[in-house]
Amino acid sequence: MPGVNVRNFSIIAHVDHGKSTLADRILEHLGAMGERDKRDQTLDTLELERERGITIKSTPVRLNYTRPNGEQYVFNLIDTPGHVDFGYEVSRSLAACEGVLLLVDASQGVEAQTIVNAYLAIDSGLTIIPVVNKIDLPAADPEGAAQELEEVVGIPAEDAIFASGKTGAGVPEILEAIVERIPPPPGDPQAPLKALIFDSFYDAYQGVILFVRVLEGTVRAKDAVTLFNTGKDFEVDKVGTFTPGLIVSDVLAAGSVGWIAAGIKDIQDAQVGDTVTSREHPTLEPFPGFKPAQPVVFSGLYPTDTEDYRKLREALERLKLNDAAFSFEPETSEALGFGFRCGFLGLLHAEIVQERLEREFDLDLIATAPAVIYRITLTNGEVIVTQNPAEFPTRDRIELVEEPYIKMSVMLPEEHVGPVMQLLQERRGSMVTMNYMGKRVELVYQVPFAEILYDFHDRLKSISRGYASMDYEIIDYREGDLQKVDIYVNGEIVDALAVIVHESKAYSLGRKVVDKMAEVIPRQMWAVPVQAAIGGKIIARATVKAFRKDVLAKCYGGDISRKKKLLSKQKKGKARMKQIGTVEVPQEAFLAVLSTD
Ligand code: GDP
Ligand code: MG
Repeated sequence: MPGVNVRNFSIIAHVDHGKSTLADRILEHLGAMGERDKRDQTLDTLELERERGITIKSTPVRLNYTRPNGEQYVFNLIDTPGHVDFGYEVSRSLAACEGVLLLVDASQGVEAQTIVNAYLAIDSGLTIIPVVNKIDLPAADPEGAAQELEEVVGIPAEDAIFASGKTGAGVPEILEAIVERIPPPPGDPQAPLKALIFDSFYDAYQGVILFVRVLEGTVRAKDAVTLFNTGKDFEVDKVGTFTPGLIVSDVLAAGSVGWIAAGIKDIQDAQVGDTVTSREHPTLEPFPGFKPAQPVVFSGLYPTDTEDYRKLREALERLKLNDAAFSFEPETSEALGFGFRCGFLGLLHAEIVQERLEREFDLDLIATAPAVIYRITLTNGEVIVTQNPAEFPTRDRIELVEEPYIKMSVMLPEEHVGPVMQLLQERRGSMVTMNYMGKRVELVYQVPFAEILYDFHDRLKSISRGYASMDYEIIDYREGDLQKVDIYVNGEIVDALAVIVHESKAYSLGRKVVDKMAEVIPRQMWAVPVQAAIGGKIIARATVKAFRKDVLAKCYGGDISRKKKLLSKQKKGKARMKQIGTVEVPQEAFLAVLSTD
């Protein structure tokens, strides 16, 4: 009986094509949302997610569906994030499903992540239900979008369902298609237990809660289980399903999506991708697993108040419990003192972590400019790996430096191809292919990762009037003529400000950084020079002019409450400053390299 009337599926799409909204409509249609918690985007559980409108953690939910003919079904819906930084979460979620709804915004058509996600689903052998979404928009062209899906991904246009997450149009058809087109989960409930961990989170009372897809067998409370990769043994406390809250149930059998609590205290013992099996009757073969998500972007995080170092460490440890993709280790900077070198999946991930630290743990932080990983062969033959520009060896010790390269796919309307190719050229990119798809073009390039780290996405959007979309993956390391640019403030080198840059860009970058710094460092009683240098040779210089701006002078001695407001505003701004020698350097200065002119 178990498995027969179950359908496990996920919704995939390019970011903003309406996954979360459509998921809400489906929940609503199936009566899974009480009137009281009928907020928008129920599946986006982290507060930050809601605010930024992006889905970070995939949240599964179990739904009951009664067909018009009276047949009863159980659906497990797994929402997925749409941002490139979180691509690994998509593949995890897909491993728990037999099918996907592939959404395409009817006014935008196929975008870079539509293609990437569609291929992830195809490669995982999943059934794809194409859904053309947002048909209520005046600019919608549903037939065009369906046609594009056929041309680009090879999904027949006539299979597409036209829908709107806003009006609810198409939702009944989607529910029927889920039953008719997606196969029931395979698996024998009598076989030895084999459950795939596709996500997890840490709960202060229950320990690590494993999100599992049971592939074979059955699991219930009191079962003795072993985690295949780590070899650790646990006794199951509780099992259950998602509504999306956690609901306790008696058993999870083959085909189910649910959770297991087993008093696991250390999240490292329960890696995502590992297989839970029975201790007495272990399965012979575990699930093949996933590539663990590797941090690829690194930056230093320092408390503005050195007293907060321990608090920061505790906060990082807490965050790490729920975010295995994030890494940190202690680091010391001459300029900033004691802090941590943190690793992220991308810039958005870095921003989110920093925001959570400041908001949930009430910390004021200084972040150094993000950097990629460099592989350096020294003249003595030794090979070192570093992601901290401050640790870059001097040039006379370097034989060669290698940097990470990405394969990037950009989708855009034909008319913007010229400027976008020029932008990719400027970023040291080389073209792999160019594919025409109707009036749109897919450009595939190989580009040094560092070149797209800072302002690439903004530039791409602005030169394509918002129409270009991109996706990328890291492919390999290649030699590059890379140099370290040092920054001096008031004649003193500031280690935390060093940046690594390609030789052809060292001068323009040095210029940009010192100008930006001179602009954001508050004026002092005396003039402060800011300089950029390569190997001790000054390449750019700017000056923070003397004279401290007195904010109170603006008030003409009048209104006291306004005066207070201004003072408190100034004080707040000060929180994210760091004293370097006699100069107060604000957070913005540390990110000068990120500024777009
Ligand atoms: P996600 O990033 O794929 O999860 O997309 P969201 O569900 O967060 O939607 C992105 C934006 O599109 C939000 O501003 C939604 O209000 C809007 N949106 C989503 N679905 C529809 C739709 O069917 N019609 C219209 N007009 N807007 C929609
Ligand atoms: Mg979403």
